[in-house]
Amino acid sequence: MNPTAAIRQLRELVGDQAVSTGASDLEIHSHDESTHGPVLPGAIVYPKTTAEVSGILAIANREGMPVTGYGAGTSLEGNAVPAAGGIVVDFRDMNRILAIHEEDFQATVQAGVLRLDLEEHLSRYGLFFPPDPGANASIGGMIANNAAGIRAIKYGATRDNVLALTAVLADGRVIKTGSRSVKQSAGYDLRHLIIGSEGTLALVTEATLKLAPVPEHFATAVVAFPDVSSVAAAVHSIMGYGLEPAALEMLHAYDIRWMNEDEDAGLVEAPSLMMEFTGASVVAVDEAMAEARSLSNAAGAVGAQEGLDHQTRAQLWRLRHSARERYARRNPGKKHITIDVSVPVSTLPELVAFAEKACADLGFDLPIYGHAGDGNIHIGVVYAQAAATAATELSGKLVKKALELGGTSTGEHGTGIGKRKYLVDEFGADAVDVMHSIKQALDPNNILNPGKVLPD
Ligand SMILES: Cc1cc2nc3c(=O)[nH]c(=O)nc-3n(C[C@H](O)[C@H](O)[C@H](O)COP(=O)(O)OP(=O)(O)OC[C@H]3O[C@@H](n4cnc5c(N)ncnc54)[C@H](O)[C@@H]3O)c2cc1C
Repeated sequence: MNPTAAIRQLRELVGDQAVSTGASDLEIHSHDESTHGPVLPGAIVYPKTTAEVSGILAIANREGMPVTGYGAGTSLEGNAVPAAGGIVVDFRDMNRILAIHEEDFQATVQAGVLRLDLEEHLSRYGLFFPPDPGANASIGGMIANNAAGIRAIKYGATRDNVLALTAVLADGRVIKTGSRSVKQSAGYDLRHLIIGSEGTLALVTEATLKLAPVPEHFATAVVAFPDVSSVAAAVHSIMGYGLEPAALEMLHAYDIRWMNEDEDAGLVEAPSLMMEFTGASVVAVDEAMAEARSLSNAAGAVGAQEGLDHQTRAQLWRLRHSARERYARRNPGKKHITIDVSVPVSTLPELVAFAEKACADLGFDLPIYGHAGDGNIHIGVVYAQAAATAATELSGKLVKKALELGGTSTGEHGTGIGKRKYLVDEFGADAVDVMHSIKQALDPNNILNPGKVLPD
């Protein structure tokens, strides 16, 4: 590897202004939002076109320089940490919305477009891009991590909402995958191989996204339960009944207390389910909510706030999305991991009961929340350095339990650095060998985001 030669060639390719080696820039790109330790890259490059990304990767491949893609740096599993140093390719300047195919409910965008900018732009068409990880992530980062979030229960994860990609391989070749047809079955499915690969197989430069009409009507409620196990039981009945919520979020009692104290939310301080139904007919939406409420009562609900208006609903979703910031604000100097596991929804009550006991055994409060309707829960552990080993142990126990229940080590945050060690347990050694072969075929010099996804 010859970093000086590589950086000189990069400057010649994209211009001096689009290559940075400034200390603060390197620091910003040395970490994501996880607790995985920072690693300083050697340079940051800001391309504007697919052709420039192609040139950057050709140089890096020739010089043997590691390359890590960077969208908004909001990953939670070390996915965006440049673990082997090298170059970070920041997609900040690839932020153009290239086309809105309104009649087909599609948009083609560059990878650096931020989710909220897209949402604002699409609102004038009455359309939106459903995946919503809460953070203002980039479309490229969402594709790379297969982000999901609160609306996945109705619309699926990012993987289900991307029709076509332009991607650049490690040696600089540009490939197109997918098409603008909603149904596709030609050839091997490289599109879905690249989605969720965390920038280890290719860098995504453009994507055609599936959009949905903004629903006209909604019904939102926050239902309180005596304990988290009852919340999990209610989730199971609501899903088992065949209702199709637009969101079914578990909130823990501490978070509700903090929402009340910090933001005057006025919610009952109890483990709760935040549920929402959306649709084109007010009758259908109200009927679904009434069924969900009666199933919640049967599961032991002790109260509810419902019939919420637009403003209250928007405020509650804002509070739900800012849970992480709230924990950080209330626990200055402490670390915060969000453990992410997912199981078949019928086993959610068992996972939650297990998590309750595991948290109690290790001396943590019970900070369970998450996208319970998908069987996907998060345990938000805030801890001082002295409790780091216990936090890691808790994460390991929950992953093991999720796998026993037929689930996965990560529902939506990706494998990154933190979950690599569970991959063989989850899929078996042969399947992981196949993954290594794919990596070897597409990136033989291992320059793309090394140290991520696959175990060494
Ligand atoms: C407060 C908060 C709440 C969150 N809630 C959720 C949630 O509910 N659901 C959820 O799924 N996630 C959630 N996340 C995690 C995070 O927002 C997602 O993982 C998101 O997809 C990361 O996007 P990003 O643009 O920040 O990508 P980055 O963090 O910059 O990068 C993510 C990965 O993609 C790679 N990459 C970036 N751009 C490209 C590209 N163009 N081509 C190829 N690889 C690329 C990076 O190398 C890295 O591996 C949350 C994060 C925070 C901070």
